[in-house]
Amino acid sequence: MYINKCGNDGVFQKGVVTRYGALELSPSAGVLNYGQGVLEGIKAYRSAEDDRLLLFRPDQNALRMKMGAERICMPSPSVETFVDAVKETALANKRWVPPPGKGSLYIRPLLMGTGAVLGFAPAPDYTFLVYCSPVGNYFKGTFASLDLIIEDELHRATPGGAGGVKSITNYAPVLKGISKAKQRGYSEVLYLDSVHKKYIEEVSCCNIFVVKGNVISTPATSGTILEGITRKSIMEIASDRGYQIEERAIAVEELEDAGEVFCTGTAVGVAPVGTITYQGKRMEFKVGASTVGRELYTILEGIQTGKTKDDKGWIVEVQ
Ligand SMILES: *Cc1c(COP(=O)(O)O)cnc(C)c1O
Repeated sequence: MYINKCGNDGVFQKGVVTRYGALELSPSAGVLNYGQGVLEGIKAYRSAEDDRLLLFRPDQNALRMKMGAERICMPSPSVETFVDAVKETALANKRWVPPPGKGSLYIRPLLMGTGAVLGFAPAPDYTFLVYCSPVGNYFKGTFASLDLIIEDELHRATPGGAGGVKSITNYAPVLKGISKAKQRGYSEVLYLDSVHKKYIEEVSCCNIFVVKGNVISTPATSGTILEGITRKSIMEIASDRGYQIEERAIAVEELEDAGEVFCTGTAVGVAPVGTITYQGKRMEFKVGASTVGRELYTILEGIQTGKTKDDKGWIVEVQ
């Protein structure tokens, strides 16, 4: 793992790669008491032909971490320090990157207030850490899909809150909804906006898209939805392919005449949604080989794994 601590000046100098292991923290560390922390998720792939190690848009994760850090009053590493840290971590763990087609190396950058702070305030110092783990493909079966349930009591985010940043505080509160959903046989929860309880927002860890003919819509972001890098990339790929992209408020009733729904995120890629249940009513959507979601994912995945030429400058090679 890579570790880099900054002092009172808030500046991250050079970090070090060291053996993966436990951290020593003060019981009054800001992150433990007040949740002062942001995380990121990036995948490294092994390319099929030439065994290169490829990262997908790590600069975007760096910028998002900066934004999140700013929201919860933390200093953050520069984009260059962040990307170098991710590269160093990937390289040091190259032997753990699964073979092409078998998965990827999931890289987890963390920025947290590790300084001791008893009275409620920003921590006096911070740790930027990067660790990783090999992961398999999210879906083992080719035609697997998600069954979502719309939650109308619990909310993930609220206007003015921190739903739009990858703050560690956004995740524990959704565990309850997910476990309730799983008990009832659903794969995940789809959240509604907390003001009108009418517009779809996103799933616990991925964004959502609705397809009707040539039009692909996704909820517009205004602080309550995490702006996924996969979301942004899929919008660009779809637009290149001639689809009409709309970012707007999507009322839950609109799902009734949607042809297709899919979710996007680093962990899931582009995941087809087979069904969505709302107030006891189950809506079904097209899944399988000839869907728009599959078409777009094939292109995205081709770029990520080096099978398709990257003419967008999205790929960063680790060497
Ligand atoms: C990380 C995350 C996403 C997906 O973002 P990507 O950059 O595409 O991985 C979507 N929603 C939430 C809540 C997330 O935490």
